[in-house]
Amino acid sequence: MKNIAFIHNMDMENQEKWLAQFTILLPNEIIVVADQLTDEQASQVELAIVANPSVDALKRFPNLIWVQSLWAGVETMVNTFRSINQGKTHPTQLVRLIDPYLANTMAEAALTWSLYLYRNIPEYMAQQKQNLWRPIPCPAINTVHVSVLGTGELGTAAMQALVNQGFNVNSWSRNHKDIANVTHYSEQDGLFALLKKTDILICLLPLTDQTHKLLSKETLSLLPKGAKIINFARGGIVNHDDLINALDTDHLSHAVLDVFEQEPLTENSPLWQHPKLSILPHISATTNLDTASKIVADNITRYREHGTIPDTVDLLRGY
Ligand code: NAP
Repeated sequence: MKNIAFIHNMDMENQEKWLAQFTILLPNEIIVVADQLTDEQASQVELAIVANPSVDALKRFPNLIWVQSLWAGVETMVNTFRSINQGKTHPTQLVRLIDPYLANTMAEAALTWSLYLYRNIPEYMAQQKQNLWRPIPCPAINTVHVSVLGTGELGTAAMQALVNQGFNVNSWSRNHKDIANVTHYSEQDGLFALLKKTDILICLLPLTDQTHKLLSKETLSLLPKGAKIINFARGGIVNHDDLINALDTDHLSHAVLDVFEQEPLTENSPLWQHPKLSILPHISATTNLDTASKIVADNITRYREHGTIPDTVDLLRGY
C-alpha cells in the first residue's frame, strides 16, 4: 500500500488529533505528514488528505490522482489546483468534505440567526443599553420571506430548517430546482425578482468569478427597505463598502457577517463597532473531527476496494 500524504497548514495539536483519528479508522494505511516525506517518496504518492495546502507544498507531489479536503469550502484550493494542474495530462482531482453533520450545523446557524433577526434581537439589545421599553411589531412568521442564495449541500439543509420553522422560503441557484415548500429562482432576472421580495437574505454561495461581489450596490438596492442580510459563505461575495452604505442610509436594517475577505478580521476594522452589524468569527459550520474523519476514511476505503473516486470539485466552474 502506498503512503497517503497529509498536506495541511494546521498547527501541531490539530495535526496530531487528525492523525490519531485516521490511525484508528484506517489501520492498514500509512499516512505521513508531507514534510516527513523525501522528494523521492513524495513523487510516489497518489492520494493525499489536505487542508488548505499551498501550491508549493502540492508541487512536491506531481503524481497525485486525487486529494481529499478536510474542509467543505474549497475556494482557496480551487486556484491552487488550477495552478498545479497546468499542463498535466491527468489533472489531480479535488474532493471536498460533504458531511451531513456539517450541513445540519449550518441549518442550525441559518435558523438561529434568522430568528435573531426576525425577533428583532439586535434592536432590543440596543434599546436595553438606553433603558428603553419599546415593543417592536413582529409579523406572522409565514409572511416573512427568507431567501437563500445557493441550494447546495448547506443551502438545502438551511432551507429545510427554515421551512420547518414556518418561514416563507425562496431560493436561488444556477440551475432550476424543485424543492418542496420553497419558491425557486435562477438566472439574473430570477435573482432580481427574489431580492425584491426578501426580508432576510442568507448567502450560501461559493465564491467564484461569477459570485465575486455579487451583493453590491445594485443588488442590495433591490432589497426592500429594512431588509436584513446574513453572510455565511465567503466575504468576497459582499461588497462591504456598499453594505455599510446601505445600513448607514437605513436602506438595510441589520447584517450578520460570519466571513470576511481578510480573516481574522483586523482588530482595528471599523466593522466591529458598527451598530447594525453582528460579527462572528467564521463559526457557522466548522468541520467536526469525528464525523468528518469517518467520511474521509470511508472515501479512502471505497477507493482502495473499488477504485471509486468520490464526486470531485469542478475546477473550471469553481465549485
Ligand atoms: P455546494 O454544495 O457546492 O452548493 C453551491 C450552490 O451555489 C449550488 O446550489 C450552486 O448552484 C450555487 N451557485 C454556484 N455558483 C452560482 C452562481 N454563479 N449563480 C447561482 N448559483 C450559484 O456548496 P455548499 O457545500 O452548500 O457550500 C456553500 C458555501 O458555504 C461554500 O462554498 C463555503 O464558501 C461556505 N461555507 C461556509 C462555512 C462557514 O462556517 N461559514 C462552512 C462551510 C462552507 P447549482 O446547484 O445550480 O449548481
